[in-house]
Amino acid sequence: MNPDFPFTRFAPSPTGYLHRGHVLSALYVYAAAEKFGYRVRLRIEDHDQSRARKAYIDAIREDLEWLGFTWEAESIQSSHTERYERFLEVLQKKDLIYACNCSRKFTFETNPTNADGEIIYQGHCQNLGLSYGKDHAVRFKTPNVSVTWEDLRLGTFTENPKEFCGDFALKDRIGQWTYQFAVVADDFEEGVGLVVRGEDLKHSTSRQIVLAEALGRKEPPLFLHHPLIADPFGKKLSKREHAASIRGERELGISPEALLGEVCAKAGFIPKAEPLSVNDSIQLVKNRLF
Ligand SMILES: [Zn+2]
Repeated sequence: MNPDFPFTRFAPSPTGYLHRGHVLSALYVYAAAEKFGYRVRLRIEDHDQSRARKAYIDAIREDLEWLGFTWEAESIQSSHTERYERFLEVLQKKDLIYACNCSRKFTFETNPTNADGEIIYQGHCQNLGLSYGKDHAVRFKTPNVSVTWEDLRLGTFTENPKEFCGDFALKDRIGQWTYQFAVVADDFEEGVGLVVRGEDLKHSTSRQIVLAEALGRKEPPLFLHHPLIADPFGKKLSKREHAASIRGERELGISPEALLGEVCAKAGFIPKAEPLSVNDSIQLVKNRLF
């Protein structure tokens, strides 16, 4: 392990209450931290200021503490404006960004989409010399390179980020930092050497590796993408659907041990739900990591 990057992180967005999918994700983060010798950081990812709510931020901490999780460091993206501006300047000096004033409609009409339904931005505005400012997104000149990484659970992956997503946005048209930019800047600055997250974010990896390198990071973090637990209809749990919140379950009187046991059973770590402490749950996941 690189001593400059001793952390892994649990990084929920405060756009809703935590649900069982988050609990599984946290268990993977803590299990991987123990297995590979990393420390855990809680990062509140409120880069989407139009959807983040203070009540959800408070609830993230309270629900994690109620479950028995502890963490050694904490940060919140809305306090990182200076950091993001500074990193954007690094990219600007290297001539690796440009302003884009394509509307959402125009963007979707003039670019192909990838397997995840994201647009593959073809660079319409790259040579227009638009100035940065209101109503302009900032895009990264994604290099056309094949990126290979070793996922700690899924094995070797190769992807060309230029082909997969084109010139992705670092800042959107209303001035909000994007997920892709904020996490890469934060992982670099906050000493994150291991990224543990759901499989649905697998295709963010190649673009994050090239972006990290452009920001000056010498070695990308390690990645571990974990499976998601499905709802009874086989779809992944999402707070935008109808997944019950931990908050709501607490109000109905469930104990943390009962909830953890049910999550571990649902994820297939134990055959049948039984009450489990947070530490026992983490050990179960750790033993099943490989
Ligand atoms: Zn454009």
